Amino acid sequence: MHDALDVELPARTRLPADLYESLVERYSYVRADGSRILPWDFTRYMNHSCDATSFLLGANLEIAVRDVREGEQLTSDYASLNLERGFDCLCGSPSCRRRVEPSDYEALAPAWDRLIVDSLQTASDVAQPLADWFPRDGRLESWMREPLLAPSILDNRHQVGAETRFRTRRAKVLASARR
Ligand SMILES: [Zn+2]
Repeated sequence: MHDALDVELPARTRLPADLYESLVERYSYVRADGSRILPWDFTRYMNHSCDATSFLLGANLEIAVRDVREGEQLTSDYASLNLERGFDCLCGSPSCRRRVEPSDYEALAPAWDRLIVDSLQTASDVAQPLADWFPRDGRLESWMREPLLAPSILDNRHQVGAETRFRTRRAKVLASARR
């Protein structure tokens, strides 16, 4: 869960050195507005799995989408965290994609949303030992009652380069108008 102790780096934050930059990239994730969240807690060490244990629900909450075995590490699907570069995956899951790409976000979002909705539907049937950490604004409880009203994971998608693509298209239109 993103909370007040996390470090938030606004979009286009300039980092002092290459090493520092790569560390921030390794341990943080990108939000819809392009800002980076560098978690202060063990969340920063969550590894990727193509069969992730949890996904972001809204901007700040993480929800488990399947049973987690005792001793099993908690994992995210990095493609759902606005990955900036693809990587070869060795997660070992039977459903491993072998290659994880930023564009997996759009392709897999409907399946991730389905997992989240299914999880919300059964959340009240299992013990919630972390309930004290739930936000106290009633959102989570209302999504548990009506899972289809929960935000889509696509709401967290940062449109990397969207502005550039728009400019490119516009430039092409202008170029063809000049001919
Ligand atoms: Zn994998």
